[in-house]
Amino acid sequence: MRSAADHAAAAGALPQWTTAAIEEAFRRFKAARPEPKGELEHINPFTLLVAVVLFAVADTPEKMAALGEQRVQELIKTIGLYRTKAKNLVALSKKIVQEHGGQVPRTRDTLEALPGVGRKTANVVLNVAFGQATIAVDTHIFRVGNRTGMATGKTPLEVETKLDRVVPAEYKRHAHHWLILHGRYVCVARRPLCERCLIADLCKWPAKTVVHHRSAER
Ligand code: SF4
Repeated sequence: MRSAADHAAAAGALPQWTTAAIEEAFRRFKAARPEPKGELEHINPFTLLVAVVLFAVADTPEKMAALGEQRVQELIKTIGLYRTKAKNLVALSKKIVQEHGGQVPRTRDTLEALPGVGRKTANVVLNVAFGQATIAVDTHIFRVGNRTGMATGKTPLEVETKLDRVVPAEYKRHAHHWLILHGRYVCVARRPLCERCLIADLCKWPAKTVVHHRSAER
């Protein structure tokens, strides 16, 4: 459940960050994790396991399409919404084979035209698979953007648009990874670990529990 402070933050009631402060936040994230990656695109060890089991059977769109909905359902039936997901997986595989020569398309529009692919998924694929500087806003980044005041918004798209505008170009490629890791392990939903936070002194959240003074002039 969100606190009153989180509601205030989401309503855009926090002071704005300066360009220098945003630059400094990402400089620290980068110093702590120069090459962030690896644990972002699967939700937890279990979903990773399901993915590995599935892809051991079908690791190309041709093979996935050939499996058919029923078989894919059996392989992923332990995860939520498995019927819909199986349907989408087979349909998007067919579409990739028929319309894109078996290659995952590289543009947002074509990705979002695939069954089951929304903006967030398209952003993840564009960033992780194709190296584009997109920022996929999931629940963690939505919370961090609003709570810190770095990029407030009522919808993920609003937060994404603001982040796209304020994150310095040199940090944009990995911004998604740094922010998601920050949200998952430090600025967690129920009780953020402000005492371990790299950007506590920059954060605008009124309910933060600690303030570092290393850049008190900001
Ligand atoms: S100070 Fe606390 S609330 Fe602010 S970003 Fe850090 S962990 Fe989150």
